[in-house]
Order: sequence, then structure tokens, then C-alpha cells
Amino acid sequence: MTDRYRRQLRYLRVSVTDRCNLRCVYCVPGTPQPRLKHEDILRYEEILRIVRVGVKLGIAKVRVTGGEPLVRRGLVGFLKELTAMEGLHEVTLTTNGVRLEEQIQEIRQAGIRRINVSLDTLKPTTFMRITRRNRFRKVWAGIMAAYRAGFDPIKINVVVLEGINDGELADLAGITRDYPFHVRFIEYMPIGHTGCDYGRQIFRDEILERIERLGALTPIPHQSLDGPAERYRLAGARGEIGIISAISHNFCSYCNRLRLTASGQLRTCLLSDEAIDIIGPLRKGCSDRDLEQIFIQAASRKQERHHLNDICRQSVDDRMSAIGG
Ligand code: SAM
Repeated sequence: MTDRYRRQLRYLRVSVTDRCNLRCVYCVPGTPQPRLKHEDILRYEEILRIVRVGVKLGIAKVRVTGGEPLVRRGLVGFLKELTAMEGLHEVTLTTNGVRLEEQIQEIRQAGIRRINVSLDTLKPTTFMRITRRNRFRKVWAGIMAAYRAGFDPIKINVVVLEGINDGELADLAGITRDYPFHVRFIEYMPIGHTGCDYGRQIFRDEILERIERLGALTPIPHQSLDGPAERYRLAGARGEIGIISAISHNFCSYCNRLRLTASGQLRTCLLSDEAIDIIGPLRKGCSDRDLEQIFIQAASRKQERHHLNDICRQSVDDRMSAIGG
């Protein structure tokens, strides 16, 4: 599946739920939000069918995300089916880690080996401020459980927010000295009317400058299967540091992703509201051939780049928790 800009689309991010047990300030508004009705969420067997069709068209990697994937019942059985799917080379999971400790063995038995955990701070009080929930210790225990269970790599996603966790960047990077984790600093993307605004953004150069206070960073050469992170290592560190600068240095020219939302929309870009309905045709009994056409249509509509940082900013209405980060 190749788009108009000759990008081969090999990577599907699948959001299995819009529900989450945290309320991160950069991801969801503070006020209660309407949730999808149970019947409006893709069933696992529907997702598997869509993924199978995607694999036929060249999808080789799936990341399971949310909302919070570990709050959806039956997830482990679904992961097992995915990891066993012929033609799918990689299945990974992104979680906030709150329920990780209790599920880690089952997740491993389901065949998952690579995991991303979101953790923006090492301070329980700041964790509470960001996520509006007091779960820091549970998340850290989840990360440690994944480490003991042999997950590799364990990537820790840190969204950098001015005035909230920007004073901790060196400490967070310092985790890579003690553990073989990949700590990835993500530029905050102002989408979804969360009440967190452009003033919270800190860009790549400043992030790097703050981390370098800890010591010199040696760049790690980019390899063909690497994602969008620029990679670095601190001298003597066991792990590595990544910077994901989707806003200041967009990586659209080699974006190979499509996104399937929990509500059954195929989205062409995280930072645009462009979406093609797939749940409707699916539930009206469409054929696999029709599903293929939907993928091909999505590929043909994928834009050359996102427009979130243009002077006249294009905005994204949907919440990150609904799209799947
Ligand atoms: N609940 C899971 C988690 O917390 O990892 C998966 C879903 S979450 C939407 C996926 C990723 O998106 C997380 O790493 C989160 O930090 C990131 N994210 C959410 N909102 C963001 C924003 N406005 N800017 C940048 N990253 C964001």
C-alpha cells in the first residue's frame, strides 16, 4: 500500500477503547466526556478481520493503544490472535502502566515482547497534577514488573510540558543510566481541546539542551526499521534517549502509519481529522475486497504533511484518547 507521496504504509496503530483510567491534562479535558457506547466500539473479531486485510496490503506492524488498552476486557486473547497472525511481523503495546503489574505475565504469554509505558514524571505529586490520579507507584511497579519479565525494549514515553515536568528532564533521562530503557521525550501536541495550550510546548532543541546538562549525548545512527525518534546515549548508559519532535521537525516525509480508532474509523494522520468510516460498511456485510478498497482510499487521502504548526493553524478536534496517540 503506497500513498501519493510514495510512502509505503506498513504500520497500523489500533485503538481498542476510548476509555482510560487516567485523565492526563494534555490528552483529555477535565470535565466528564461522553464515552462511546459498547455497541459502537469495534469488536475484537472485527478488528482482527480489518488487520488481516491490512496485512494482505502490506501492513507488517501493529501497535495496540487506546484510551487505555489494559482496561478493555479480553485484551490478552486479542493480543494472542494478533501475535499469531501470519504476515504480521511486530505487535507492540502502549499503556499507561496502571494495570501492567497484574497483567504482565499474561501479556508476555500472549507473545508481546516490546512495550511502551507513558510516564511523564518521577514525582508522585506531579504525576497527580498531570494525570489527575494518584497512581505513580502502580505505574512504576508496572515498569519494574515488565523489566523483570524480560520485555525488551521497554520504552518510556514522556510528554514534555512547560512549567509542569520540564524541570525533571535530566532526571528522567538519567533513568537510562540505571536501566536499559529507552526514554523518549515527546513534544506536546495541542490537539483535542483539552485546556492544555500552546504555551505548554517545549521543542526539541530546548529539550536536548536540558538533558545535556547531565552529560554529552552521543547520537545513535538511524536504522531502517527505527521509528521517528532521534536516538542518543549518555556516556556509559545502559539505555537510550529518544526525541520525538512531531511539531518542530515533523517526520511526515517518512510517516508509514494509518490509525484505526476504537469507533471504527481509519485515520490517515494523528494530526488531522481526516477519517474514513470502516465500521459502517463492515457491519453492513461488506466483503474483504471492499475493506481493501477502504484501506486504499485512506492511503490515497493521506496528506503530504500535517499542518498543526502552520501560521494559520489547522486544529484537530478529536481527543487523543479517542484517536489512540
Ligand atoms: N493509555 C495509553 C498510554 O497512556 O500510553 C495509550 C494511549 S495514549 C493516547 C498514547 C500516547 O499518546 C501516550 O504516550 C501519551 O503520553 C501520548 N499523548 C497523549 N496526548 C498527547 C499530546 N497532546 N501530545 C503528545 N503526546 C500525547
